[in-house]
Amino acid sequence: MKTYPLYLNGGWVRTPAANPVINPATGKPFARVSTVDRARVRQAVEDAQAAFRAWRQVTGKARGEFLSKIAWQLERRCDEVARMITLENGKPLAQGQAEVGMSIDHLRWFAEEARRAYGRIIPNQVDGKRHLVVKTPMGVAGAISPWNFPLVLGVRKVAPALAAGCTVILKPARQTPLSSVLFAECVDAAKLPKGAFQLVAGSASEIGQELLENPLCRKISFTGSTETGQLLIRGAASGVKPLSLELGGQAPVLVFKDADLEKAVEGAMIAKFRNTGQSCIAANRIYVERPIYRKFLERFVAKAKALNVGDGLEPEVQIGPLIDKNALDKASEHVEDAVRKGARLLCGGKPLPRRKGFFFEPTVLADVPAQGLCMREETFAPIAPVCAFDKEEEAIERANASNYGLSAYAFTNDLRRAFRLMENLEAGMIGINDGVPTTSQCPFGGVKQSGWGRELATEGMDAFLDTKHISLGIG
Ligand code: NAP
Repeated sequence: MKTYPLYLNGGWVRTPAANPVINPATGKPFARVSTVDRARVRQAVEDAQAAFRAWRQVTGKARGEFLSKIAWQLERRCDEVARMITLENGKPLAQGQAEVGMSIDHLRWFAEEARRAYGRIIPNQVDGKRHLVVKTPMGVAGAISPWNFPLVLGVRKVAPALAAGCTVILKPARQTPLSSVLFAECVDAAKLPKGAFQLVAGSASEIGQELLENPLCRKISFTGSTETGQLLIRGAASGVKPLSLELGGQAPVLVFKDADLEKAVEGAMIAKFRNTGQSCIAANRIYVERPIYRKFLERFVAKAKALNVGDGLEPEVQIGPLIDKNALDKASEHVEDAVRKGARLLCGGKPLPRRKGFFFEPTVLADVPAQGLCMREETFAPIAPVCAFDKEEEAIERANASNYGLSAYAFTNDLRRAFRLMENLEAGMIGINDGVPTTSQCPFGGVKQSGWGRELATEGMDAFLDTKHISLGIG
């Protein structure tokens, strides 16, 4: 079985200690990845600090050119990288390709943004003074990413960090490190200065502790569960380390009777079933206005039943396996709990029989009570709980009754209602008649327990810049 190396200070490092990587479609390991201990992470931080001194002096234009070269390398190897995403994560190949495509777009967007770390000049209030605001790179950044979008969520940190002039150490998830190894190969081929980008793997708590406690690491950007985010907040307290946190979600979808029903069903399908329901912005709860409830359910269930479940490498597959056995057990628990509390099971509801790997049937539940686990927790599976509502205010109140606030969706053709929803839904991203709101040039992130800060867009690069006020006495 092949053991993949890590990328440290411009070189490839294979270690005797390695973690297995499991294909969720078979439940079997297919490769291994090298791992490092805390001392080696400390060395990586020191190397990144040494590299930072030179990298920060490189012009934004030249840094952007490096990012464009990485994008070009990734584009050249799109099919190979997409296949690796499917092997380690399980998602259908077409969605792996889309993930590579989005990663390329992020790299190109930040390649251009690298030139635009603008400051400003502020009119003085006192004679003999001038005021400048300048933005400078923070320094060494740690980037910790999850398994559900193994490539793009790392790129969403690495690209703006490098564009800003920071150096960066990426730690991918234990389950899905290999697409990051291929990404590191693209960085290597783009001839980035050594130490500007490094890839580590190993014990999450050891790596996390080093990044938190080492004062040379000036920033941690994390995507993952709210629980791990809370651990990082506690760990960051003593060093007052700045954190960007992209945490869990529990997105509501509101479908109003004035919506285009076909578009609403299609939008809810994408928001729910893309990435086999394992997306932080996945629709978790669907509320439909009562006059169209039955019609919506009929169409939605028909489409859910027609979804093709299988190994992501097989052609035409739309739903891959879940990431592991725990995810499968959680999915079963959410369905059983909902049914026990009075929900009607309209399709699916259990792991796929007679199949190795972690497959769960696309599932639709109707009339799910608010106490159901699937109405309160992040389900992360192809399970769609649907319920009826009577009034807009009630729908908004139910949508907002969550500790999470990452994304929300609404389908309506009433412009005034659309504005009320924009203003009143408690979420960082709101798709109105749109089931896939994410795009490179717009800020991505949540409110409430879904996190701190924003990725992508100008805000995404700002997260790696210090803002300094320079007061210049010229009198
Ligand atoms: P997770 O368990 O929190 O893991 C995420 C990352 O954190 C992994 O790399 C993990 O490493 C690492 N980690 C775990 N414990 C750590 C510690 N003590 N110190 C430092 N790092 C640590 O989350 P997950 O289950 O992989 O990912 C799913 C979650 O991510 C969901 O809640 C989802 O909503 C959220 N998510 C949020 C967004 C967003 O943008 N808001 C996007 C995608 C996913 P190991 O894998 O090695 O344990």
